[in-house]
Parts: sequence; C-alpha cells; structure tokens
Amino acid sequence: MINGIFLKKKKYASVPIKEKRPFSSQGVVTKCPKCKKLLLNRELDKNLKTCTFCKYHFPMTASERVKFLLDENSFIEYNENMQSGNPLQFPGYEEKLRIDEKNTNLKEAVITGQGTIKGYHTALAIMDTRFRMGSMGSIVGEKIALAMEKAIDQQIPFLIFTASGGARMQEGIVSLMQMAKTSSVVKMMDINRNLFISIMTSPTTGGVSASFASLGDYNLAEPGALIGFAGRRIIEQTIREDLPEDFQTAEFLLEHGQLDKVIDRLSMRDTIASILSIHQGDY
Ligand SMILES: [Zn+2]
Repeated sequence: MINGIFLKKKKYASVPIKEKRPFSSQGVVTKCPKCKKLLLNRELDKNLKTCTFCKYHFPMTASERVKFLLDENSFIEYNENMQSGNPLQFPGYEEKLRIDEKNTNLKEAVITGQGTIKGYHTALAIMDTRFRMGSMGSIVGEKIALAMEKAIDQQIPFLIFTASGGARMQEGIVSLMQMAKTSSVVKMMDINRNLFISIMTSPTTGGVSASFASLGDYNLAEPGALIGFAGRRIIEQTIREDLPEDFQTAEFLLEHGQLDKVIDRLSMRDTIASILSIHQGDY
C-alpha cells in the first residue's frame, strides 16, 4: 500500500544540513559480534555503528538516531515527561522503571517529536531497547498515538523506527490494548492521507510487529534485523519442523514479500529524504 496523496500543501523552512555528526562509543575498540573483528570505536562511530568488514548493524540509541537522521537542531520533542504508572500494581515494576530511567536517561521506551530531514518536515517516533527492552506499555502506545495525531493535525508524514521485545508484561491487558489503539490511529492517518513510513530495526517482535510496525505505507528495515511475532523455538515446537537459518530476518521477509526494502543505515537518511521528496508535492 503506497499512500501519499495529501490534501493541502504546506511549506516548511529548510534547515542547514551537517552530515555525520560523531557519536560516542565507550572505550577504544569494540568486537563485532558477527565477524568477531576488532573495530576502532572512532571508525565505528563514523560509520553510524555499522561494521566496516561485515556490515553488521550495532544497536543504536534513540538519541543517536535523532542525530544521524534529522537536520541539526530541528528536533522538537513531544511529551518528553510522560511516564508509566503501575496500572496493575505489578510487584517491583515501578523500581524497574526507575532503574531504566536512571541508566538510560529516558522516561520511556520511545521518544517522539518532529523535525526535518534534508529540509522535509516529518513527525516521528523512535523506540529504544535499553528501556524495558523497548516493550510497549501504556505510555509507549500513548506517545506513539499522540505523535501520529500531531502528524494528522499538521498534515505532515509520520515515520517510526521500531525496536521492541513486544508487549510489556507488567501492564498485561493495558499493554495489549495499545496494539488496537495505535492501529486505529494508523487507520486515521490513512483516511487523512498522511504518509507513514515504518523502519523496523532489530529486534521488532511481538505486539509491536503485529500492530503499527507492519502497517506502514512503506515497510522498511535495517539489514539483518530480527523481525517476527513469536520466537523461533516456540514456532519450531508448535509446528514440529526446523525453520530456515535466516527465518525472521529482514532479508527473509523481503524475499517473501513482507517488506518493501532493506536499507543500509549509511544510506537511510538519503533514502527517507527521497521518499519524503516524492510525496512532498502531495501535501
Ligand atoms: Zn563485523
């Protein structure tokens, strides 16, 4: 489904682009988990955390993605102080939230906002697996739904970088409800003809893969990303068959028609900008 015809045209100011701002990895070298070669962190940061030998894509934080994707100083964050409660009084949940908050400097597993990519205005959400494994609780769902509604109000595109272990077990049914809630706002974007680009990064699983992550007008992914609903072992035990080695990888999904394109992180910004430019005339 490609859907980018917008009703009204809006103009947004371009922001000067400064390419490839540095990120900071800890220490001097990092071992690539795929090819096992040692990489200088300086080089790794320059290559947007991709291995220069085997192209393995290391995990990225939400703030690193903002830096590499958006034009400098163009990001305006939405609802940055929204935090989860403990709707089911799950024992120890609040403590876990506070520990993740302290370790990541994030209030929740997603940041949302708006900004420009090579001058093209967009609303966006970026998930971060360091916070509760990127799981979708009530606030993750709410922030994503609100960011989509902002895109509708402003008649701008919406894009999301997904990274999630699925629904948040400590919020039970409240967490599962976010699948229906976010999917219904995706439908509203469809009715209002907002372009929606979903970029799946590793891992995109469970309730997130089964809701908004798979509902983009463009469904894209980073190379090697693990994308699926249930885990390999559960499926193998259920169907009593061995699964292919590359099962649930971005490349496997592309081959089987569930993705539109797998995009190397180094060309992600250019590719997204060119998709936005194709649809720019539709606003
Ligand atoms: Zn490597």
